[in-house]
Amino acid sequence: MATRKPAPRKSSLTRELIAALPKSDLHVHLDGSLRLETLIELAKERKVRLPSSTPSGLRDLVFKRAYKNLPEYLRGFEFTVACLQDAESLERAAYELCWDCRNENVFYVEIRFAPQLHVNGGFGVRQVLAAVARGMNRAKREINRGAEIKDGTLPRFECGIIVCAMRFFLPVFSEHYRAYFEAMPSAPKEEIYSLASLELARVTVKAIEEDGVPVVGLDLAGQERGFPAEDHAPAYQLVHDHFLGKTVHAGEDYGPESIFQAITDCHADRIGHGTWLLSPNRIHDQGIKDKKGYVEKLANYVADRRITLEVCLTSNQQTIPEMRDDLSKHPFKRMRKARISVTLCTDNRLVSRTTVTDEVVKAVDTFKLKPRELKDVLIYGFKRSFYPGPYHEKRDYVRQVLNTMERVFAEHGHDVRMSVR
Ligand SMILES: [Zn+2]
Repeated sequence: MATRKPAPRKSSLTRELIAALPKSDLHVHLDGSLRLETLIELAKERKVRLPSSTPSGLRDLVFKRAYKNLPEYLRGFEFTVACLQDAESLERAAYELCWDCRNENVFYVEIRFAPQLHVNGGFGVRQVLAAVARGMNRAKREINRGAEIKDGTLPRFECGIIVCAMRFFLPVFSEHYRAYFEAMPSAPKEEIYSLASLELARVTVKAIEEDGVPVVGLDLAGQERGFPAEDHAPAYQLVHDHFLGKTVHAGEDYGPESIFQAITDCHADRIGHGTWLLSPNRIHDQGIKDKKGYVEKLANYVADRRITLEVCLTSNQQTIPEMRDDLSKHPFKRMRKARISVTLCTDNRLVSRTTVTDEVVKAVDTFKLKPRELKDVLIYGFKRSFYPGPYHEKRDYVRQVLNTMERVFAEHGHDVRMSVR
C-alpha cells in the first residue's frame, strides 16, 4: 500500500500556491484599478457616458486584453477619472482596491494616483488625498480585524499612498492644470510642469503633516520622450528633504539615460518599469559613446544601491508591441541575472485586466522561476516598500511575512528556507 506522498514535481509552483502566498503591489494606479461594476454604478450616478453599460460590453470596447496602441490603452482612464471627482467615489475606489488586494493575499499595497486630476470646484488636492486615505484606513481596520491576522497566522494588511506628479499635462486634463496655463500664459511649458510638481509636493507634505494622510512617496508619470525628469527635480528635492520615498516611471518608453536621470535628478529609490535599463540600443543621448559600458555601469549602480524595478509584465505586453505575443522577450530574466532587485506589480488591475496573482503566475511560467527565486522576488516587494512606520517595525513585519511565506511554501511541498552551511 503506497502511503508516502510523491515528491513534488519541479514545476509545482501552482496558481493555488501563488494565490496563497503573501504578496505586495508597489505599483498600482487607483484610477486604473476600479471594479468594473463600480465604474458602471458611479457613471450612472454621476451622469458620465460610458460606451457600454455592461461589464462584458466595456471589456469588449474599452478594457481589453490586448490594445492596438498606447492611446487605446489610455482611453479607459478618461472614464474612470471622470467618475472619480468627489470624496465619496474616491473613498469607495480606495476601499475596494484594498479589499481586492487582501482577497488575493496581497498584504502590502502602495496606491498611486495624481490628485491633480480629481480636483474640481472647492474640492482640492488635500481633500482628494483625505478621501483616499479614509477609504484605505477603513479597509485596513476591517481587514486587520480578521481572525487569522489577529492571531498572527497571516501578516497585517498595510498600505500607503504614492502621489503622482505628471511629466506633461494640458489645460484640458483638469481644472487644476488649466489654472496654471491661465496664470502663466507666456511661460515656457517646462517651467509650468516644474512649478506644478513643486506645488504638488508642497501640498502633499502639508497634507501629511497637518491632515495625517499616509502618503509614503512621490512618483512621476506620463510620457518620457520630450519630457525629462529633470524638470521635476525641485519637487523631488522637497520630498527628499522630508524623508519621503521616491519612485519615477522611467525606461518604459525611453532609454537607460531616462533611468539615470530619475536616479540622479530625482533621487529615485525605485523605478517604475525600468524595462529598457539593459538596452544599449535604446540610448538616444549622442554624448554617450560607449553605450554598452554605460548600461553596464548603470545596471551595476542600480543593483548595488538596491534601487528596485517595479516590473509590470502584462502592462508592458499591452504597450510594447514586440512583447505582445512573446513575453520571453521581456528583460525580466536578464534583470534577475544582473542581480537587480525586481518586484512584480499590476500597474492597473482594470485597464490591464490583471491581478498580482496573474502577474506572478505569468513570471513563474515564462521565466521558469524556482521556488527560492520566487520567494526572493516576493520578499523584495516588502523589503523595498516605503513602509509607513519605523524601520524596526518594518523589519519585524518583513520577518513575519517571510515566516508566513516559508510556511505556505512548505504546505505545498517546497522548502525555501536558507540552508545553513
Ligand atoms: Zn504605472
